[in-house]
Amino acid sequence: MTVVTTLPDRRLLLVHAHPDDESIGTGSTMAHYAASGAHVTLVTCTLGEEGEIHVPELAGLAAAEADQLGGYRLAELAHACAELGVTDHRFLGGAGRYRDSGMMGLPTNGHPRAFWGADLDEAAGHLLEILREVRPQVLITYDDNGFYGHPDHIQANRVAMRAVELAAAEGIAPAKVYWTAMPQSVLEAGMTHFEESSDNPFAGISDATDLPFCTPDKDIAARIDATEQHAAKEAAMRAHATQIPATSWLYSVAGNFGAEFMGVEYFTLAVGTKGPGSGPYGWESDLFAGLETAGSTDRGGTDRIPVSSAGQR
Ligand SMILES: [Zn+2]
Repeated sequence: MTVVTTLPDRRLLLVHAHPDDESIGTGSTMAHYAASGAHVTLVTCTLGEEGEIHVPELAGLAAAEADQLGGYRLAELAHACAELGVTDHRFLGGAGRYRDSGMMGLPTNGHPRAFWGADLDEAAGHLLEILREVRPQVLITYDDNGFYGHPDHIQANRVAMRAVELAAAEGIAPAKVYWTAMPQSVLEAGMTHFEESSDNPFAGISDATDLPFCTPDKDIAARIDATEQHAAKEAAMRAHATQIPATSWLYSVAGNFGAEFMGVEYFTLAVGTKGPGSGPYGWESDLFAGLETAGSTDRGGTDRIPVSSAGQR
């Protein structure tokens, strides 16, 4: 038996490690595509149980105390998604299947449910089920260093790329896979503000190329200008109040930079063919550039996606 679901004709799926990563890394892009009528699916791999807590009255929720932070962050994430206009949100394997592994090298890496120790094919299988259902043309995740080296971000990359491989074997792979990135020229222009901001995790770094996520401009594939969504992104970040203090360097740098700091996001292309772009390196301005669906969203078109019952397990 085949059932048919109807979704908008442009479908974007994002694989993120913890609640808050979606907002910090790709919030404007998510809000931009959701507002333009595309179907935006967020898959979060863990509940972020090992996060620090920046709201003093909630300090007792910490992993070493009541260990309730993950549950609390469900509500923060729901709030953030509402700010971004994203209605399709899932946890990989269901909420609580995989646990935040904590920073690299910590004993939490070895927790029985730690995402870092997840069986790759099992975890990718959970994502494959979602790919079968949603059939996104574009998938976003991190690079193979997880943007900055956190084990759960590295694992998110591995799981996403394995799921894409499995989807390709079924002929349903996304046409394009992007990895989040920051161009060297943008980082260099911002280094002064960066160095002067308080509490930033890269304090003391004065050479942009020493930042783990610094990417040569020529390797950037897409620059998504969603400055019209900068306020939505900031509101979504503020929804993650346990994780991002109101005094965060992110907000102070944003204050110095204006809408562009929050509203413009960059990506490298890991799988697929780059579409038409502009500027010295031909940066795309649309993640769907070059795909058949590009530009059709505003007409409100929909795709009828045959979903076999076998894919509905
Ligand atoms: Zn994270």
